Amino acid sequence: MDRTVDPVRAEEDLGEGALRPQTLADFTGQKASRENLGIFIEAARARDEALDHVLLHGPPGLGKTTLAQIVARELGVGFRATSGPVIQRAGDLAAILTNLQPRDVLFIDEIHRLQPAIEEILYPAMEDFQLDLIIGEGPAARSVRIDLAPFTLVAATTRAGLLATPLRDRFGIPLRLVFYTPDELKLIVARGARKLGFGLTDAGAYEIARRSRGTPRIAGRLLRRVRDFTSVGNRTGEPVGAELADAALTRLEVDSIGLDSMDRRYLMRIAEYHNGGPVGVETLAAALAEARDTIEDVIEPYLIQEGLVLRTSRGRVLGERGWRHLGLIPPVSSQA
Ligand code: ADP
Repeated sequence: MDRTVDPVRAEEDLGEGALRPQTLADFTGQKASRENLGIFIEAARARDEALDHVLLHGPPGLGKTTLAQIVARELGVGFRATSGPVIQRAGDLAAILTNLQPRDVLFIDEIHRLQPAIEEILYPAMEDFQLDLIIGEGPAARSVRIDLAPFTLVAATTRAGLLATPLRDRFGIPLRLVFYTPDELKLIVARGARKLGFGLTDAGAYEIARRSRGTPRIAGRLLRRVRDFTSVGNRTGEPVGAELADAALTRLEVDSIGLDSMDRRYLMRIAEYHNGGPVGVETLAAALAEARDTIEDVIEPYLIQEGLVLRTSRGRVLGERGWRHLGLIPPVSSQA
């Protein structure tokens, strides 16, 4: 998928690291999670102990990786990152775990994609800082127990519901990240513009913010795109304002509330082919030629939070806002 407003990290975001906040105090938004983390970090530091394991869940691009890095930095410990699908064999995980220094942070992204056999190894590691490994095969096989340095697992997932209960229960600090408000995103965009040395007015920053689907990753990407667009057309040296930002975003086909053509196809499909729904997610995925996971993790969360779409037990239903956004009138029978 090649979407400007796709919240999943893409190649063009390789430069986004430069804009990452480095401390908890610099991290905008997510007030509840930030405050909780701050208290737990302080307590762990005071006791000179590893921080309890942290589970960060929420849609892509909201700052899970960023927070994990901040946790390590605030604790003054090492940071090691991997992800669920990358860990193929028990030995891969064992190698990572045995190399950790006391109180280090191990970040596992997409933990819901960890293989069950590998999850089993993680349980005693998280609970007792022990690794139970089987060495050899057949009658000669024996089990060895290795002590690990106490560490903190910070795991991220787009869907906590997919985690096995015993795994979920082993996280002492579960935190749910939520979409950012336009005002929070405006602060993030303005700070990003300053770091890039790009002149942007407050109104310009707000225009980008309100079209970023509540997601800092998208805000950063739109900021860079607007800068590229306006650096060609704007030779006045004046800071870019709302009007220029709007023109650039419109050319990028990001609409007034941040939806792109994929979102609009999704909404249109429900409106035109299913009379507003309900329609099952599998049917939509097939019709739009997208993976079901992409629909559920990437496209829907923002549309649902904004009331454009409703998730019901019988399937997806276009909300009144969805009809209005498409410029259509809802049929009388489905005033959802
Ligand atoms: P996730 O791991 O949830 O997909 P990331 O932590 O990789 O998201 O964040 C994506 C981008 O958004 C990064 O460039 C990061 O700098 C930026 N970002 C995320 N949260 C914030 C925030 N609270 N303030 C400023 N920038 C943020």
